[in-house]
Amino acid sequence: MNKQDKITIIVPCYNEEETIPIFIEEMNKIYKLMHKKYNVQMEYLFVDDGSKDNTLEVMQEAAEKHSHISYISFSRNFGKEAAMFAGLENADGDYVVIIDVDLQDPPELVEEMYVTLKNNKKYDCVASRRVDRKGESAIRSFFAEMFYKIIRKLSKVNIVSGARDFRMMKRQMVDSIVSLREYNRFSKGIFQWVGFETKWIDFENRNRVAGSTKWSFWGLLLYAIDGMIAFSTAPLALSSIMGIVFCIIALIMVLVFFVRAMIWGDPVSGWPSLACIICFIAGIQLFCNGITGLYLSKTYSEVKGRPQYIIKTKHKCLEDSKENND
Ligand code: UDP
Ligand code: MG
Repeated sequence: MNKQDKITIIVPCYNEEETIPIFIEEMNKIYKLMHKKYNVQMEYLFVDDGSKDNTLEVMQEAAEKHSHISYISFSRNFGKEAAMFAGLENADGDYVVIIDVDLQDPPELVEEMYVTLKNNKKYDCVASRRVDRKGESAIRSFFAEMFYKIIRKLSKVNIVSGARDFRMMKRQMVDSIVSLREYNRFSKGIFQWVGFETKWIDFENRNRVAGSTKWSFWGLLLYAIDGMIAFSTAPLALSSIMGIVFCIIALIMVLVFFVRAMIWGDPVSGWPSLACIICFIAGIQLFCNGITGLYLSKTYSEVKGRPQYIIKTKHKCLEDSKENND
C-alpha cells in the first residue's frame, strides 16, 4: 500500500473567536471527503497571533476535541507574515496549505490543489488568485491594483495580481521558504522568489463569514511599502512623500510669484526665483534621503536579528518538535 500523505493546514488567526468553529466545520467536510477518496491524513495547525479575544481558548477547546488539531500561540501580535512563518516552520506534512480562517479562501479548493500536485509531478505549488474584488471598497481595489502594477515594474519578481497567500506547497518548496530567514518578510514575493513551478487557480472573491478584516488602509499601505523595499531597489517610499510635498510647494510658489509679478509688479527682483529653487532642491534632497533612510531602517531591523515571533504556549504534540527561531 502507498504511504499515506499528510497535509498540514496552516491557519493564521488574529481575534477570530467567531470564525474558528465555522472554519473547522467547513474544513472537516473537505477532510472527510479527501480521507475517503485519497486516504490522506490532515493536521490543522492554528497560529494564534497574540489575539486579544478568546481565540486561544477556542483553539485549545478544538484541540482537546479533535486529535487532528494543534495550535501555537504568540506572546503578542506579530502580524500575519510571522504567523505564516511560524506555521511553515512547525508544519511537518508532505503537503502544506496556508489558508485564512475567515473562509474567504474556499476550503473546497484544497482537493483540487492536492489532486493537481499529486498527478502533475511538474508542479510544486498550487496557488490561488482572486479574479475580482467584489465586496471590497473601490479605493482599496484601486490602490491594490496600483501596487501590483508598480511592484511588477520595479522588481524582478513577478508578483501576480490578486494572488492570495492561500496555496498548497510540496515539502521541498516549504523547506526553501523556511530557509529564507529575513526579518522583513513579504511572502507574496518570497513564494515567487524561491522559484519552483506554480499552477494558478482562479476563484471569485468572497466575503468573510464573521468578524471583520484586520487590515486598515494604512496597515495595507505600510505592508505594500515593505514589499517594495524587500523586492526592489527602486522603491516608492512614504517618507519620501515629504520631498514631493516640498516640490509641490515650490511649484505653487512659482505660480504665486508669477501672478504677483504680473499684477503688482515685482519690487525685489531675483529673490522669489531663488526661494523656489532652494525649496525645490531641498524637496529633492529630502526625497532621496527618505529612500536611503527606508533601506537603512530595514537593514537595521535585519542586523538586529530578532526572532520573527515569540511563542507563549503551544499544543502538547508540538512541544517536543523544533523550537522556534533556532
Ligand atoms: N491575521 C493574522 N495576524 C494579523 C492580521 C491578520 O494572523 O495581524 C490573519 C487573520 O486572522 C486571517 C488572515 O490573517 O485569518 C487574513 O486577515 P484578514 O481577513 O483580516 O485580511 P483580509 O482578508 O481582509 O485581507
Ligand atoms: Mg479576510
